Amino acid sequence: MKKNLRNHLVYIFLLGIITFNFSASIPDEGMFPLSELNRAGLKKAGLKISEKDIYNPGEVGLVDALVQVSGCTGSFVSPSGLIITNHHCAFSAVQLASTTEFNYLKNGFVANALNQEIEAKGLTIRITDSYEDVSSEVLNAAAAVNDPIERINTINRKRSEIAQRAESSDPSIKAEVSEMFIGKSYVLFRYKTIEDVRLVYVPRQDIGEFGGETDNWVWPRHTGDFSFLRAYVAPDGSSAKYSKENVPYKPKKHLKINPAGVNENDFIFILGYPGRTFRHRPAQYIAYQQQFLLPYTADLYDFQNQQMLTAGKDDLATELALATRIKRNANVLKNYRGKLKGLHNIDLVTEKYKEDRELEQFIRSKTELNTKYGTLMNDIDQHYKAVFEVAKKELWFNNIYSSTSLLRVASAINSFKIAVLKQNGVKAQEEFFKLNIEEVKKHLDGIYASYNLTVDKAIAQKMLEDAYEFGGSNKLAFLTKQNFLSKDDTKQYINSIFDKSKLTNKETLFSSILKDVQSLKNYTDELLSLQKEINTEMLVFNEEQKRREGILNKLMGDYVAVKEKYQAKNFIPDANSTLRLTFGNIKGYSPVDATYMKPFTTLKGLVEKGNSGLPEFEYPESIKNAWLAKNFGAYAKKDLNDVPVNILYNLDTTGGNSGSPIMNANGELIGVNFDRSYDATINDFAWNENYSRSIGVDIRYVLWIADKIDNAQFILKEIGI
Ligand code: ASP
Repeated sequence: MKKNLRNHLVYIFLLGIITFNFSASIPDEGMFPLSELNRAGLKKAGLKISEKDIYNPGEVGLVDALVQVSGCTGSFVSPSGLIITNHHCAFSAVQLASTTEFNYLKNGFVANALNQEIEAKGLTIRITDSYEDVSSEVLNAAAAVNDPIERINTINRKRSEIAQRAESSDPSIKAEVSEMFIGKSYVLFRYKTIEDVRLVYVPRQDIGEFGGETDNWVWPRHTGDFSFLRAYVAPDGSSAKYSKENVPYKPKKHLKINPAGVNENDFIFILGYPGRTFRHRPAQYIAYQQQFLLPYTADLYDFQNQQMLTAGKDDLATELALATRIKRNANVLKNYRGKLKGLHNIDLVTEKYKEDRELEQFIRSKTELNTKYGTLMNDIDQHYKAVFEVAKKELWFNNIYSSTSLLRVASAINSFKIAVLKQNGVKAQEEFFKLNIEEVKKHLDGIYASYNLTVDKAIAQKMLEDAYEFGGSNKLAFLTKQNFLSKDDTKQYINSIFDKSKLTNKETLFSSILKDVQSLKNYTDELLSLQKEINTEMLVFNEEQKRREGILNKLMGDYVAVKEKYQAKNFIPDANSTLRLTFGNIKGYSPVDATYMKPFTTLKGLVEKGNSGLPEFEYPESIKNAWLAKNFGAYAKKDLNDVPVNILYNLDTTGGNSGSPIMNANGELIGVNFDRSYDATINDFAWNENYSRSIGVDIRYVLWIADKIDNAQFILKEIGI
């Protein structure tokens, strides 16, 4: 029965100056899956250990020290399950552990003993155990299916069937079939999971987030974006939810830290779980991003953040409740604006159209290709024409639930009510209610944890105002039906339905509507009706989206296949949150005419930023004192006569690589990746050595802060420094 309810509770949260004078060149690909490591040329590039030390099926290698921490990466750095990752990767868990009394977010957190470590709520860990190509099995299942919806359903069914098969033959793992190339290749990944993760050491916010949004996606950078977590398992070694009885996990492998760090031009590599890139998409997809997705999302998140910042200004509890959402929004919106700037600078869309035209000519030039792919480019064009036509509506649907907490609450209540009413007879309904009410409340608690009425109202009003302006195929039927006379009416409408709804207050909702079955059945209001209408319209739209996805799946399989023939090479698949390796060098760059940016920043630069007087550049007094006293310990870089803070390198990374270990030629950890430069954000569409630069925190800074500023000597001891 629980399962039954869960099915009803499935929401659609689609819940993302520089004057370079170069044009986009064919992207160089650098996110190598484990299966492609032999193609990477690591030895030639400078790797001193054997490739087998990194990954050797059936044996222990560096990859066994890698973990995926929710959307980020981390790595084991001690035999007792200690993990190093980014401050921003632990941020939401630190926020959840913080109260107005114990503000760990602001003040940082150091557990000096195992029993002081705090549950990192919401964080879970995955470790890649093994993988296997299952492309033929997936594609054969769909080979004779022509209907696009049926095609995508068949593929997805097959993917979960293969995953379930793997899980039942080894119940200790979780399995997932990942799409490597859309409609072309699929790989089964087996993961070990760890559900009990704890906070061990998190620096204070003015270290971990130094520079705030001003410095986010910016080089030169001086952020101590690191934190330490620990993985725990049941005493028998199996994965278990948080419990006092659990014990630190013993990883198969942990990384050795090299406190000597690196120098300019040194060879380095990164292992990690990059999220998503879009390098193998046609020109129209990039145009879609540039015209619709990026500007819409950036503007919407900007608006949301303005509302949230205002609401939390003089109220610490609200500020804490909204902190994670504000941070995520700000991160995405700046990234998207960086992408927009970059796309314009290099005019990638034009470049991609040119590439596609050349591909078309190649297809035309060979009879057998023409027979097989003759309509491909035109079909792609038709597909995107349809996408463009309803792009505004699609984006609106994709954002409405994640933007408005109360619509999510309404969705949960409506779904619960429907599920209750489906039960036969009052007795069965009561039983069902009893069985599920706690779970429903838990779900609602999660929504209300970051909810603020004023903010929610303002966002709902904005989204309705936006929708009011939609014309043609983008018109939303539920809104047209209201016959509003002006845009302003939408505002009044939201005001009125929010004011009348009992959902605006969690306590009232729990104590009245969710008191018992009868109260749930009796309660209705206009907010619930609005959610129902949006949902009905959205379900029809989603079915159409699925049809399009089915069409695209086939087209993209063919597009990549023929492009590989044209360029006479096998591509590396776009990032898809599976384990990858990228390599390169510590390297500066020249992003603006007449400049050269060095690849190391120092404490001196941090202090200089602090002199600006801006609040985001405030930092602990103890840093300044230690710097003035040249109390660098063993962590200084000799030629700089200072502690190196952040490092810059030309590796190919994206979101999800946050927290990835940066390793030297001997496979020793010398830093932690956390960001890219503003201009590198377009590497998600096209990588280029000129502008693609990633940013990491130098291990010497991590150790210096732990040692000299936070007195976290236990960490140094545990990691063998
Ligand atoms: N700082 C980035 C993020 O949070 C990491 C990256 O995208 O390079 O997504």
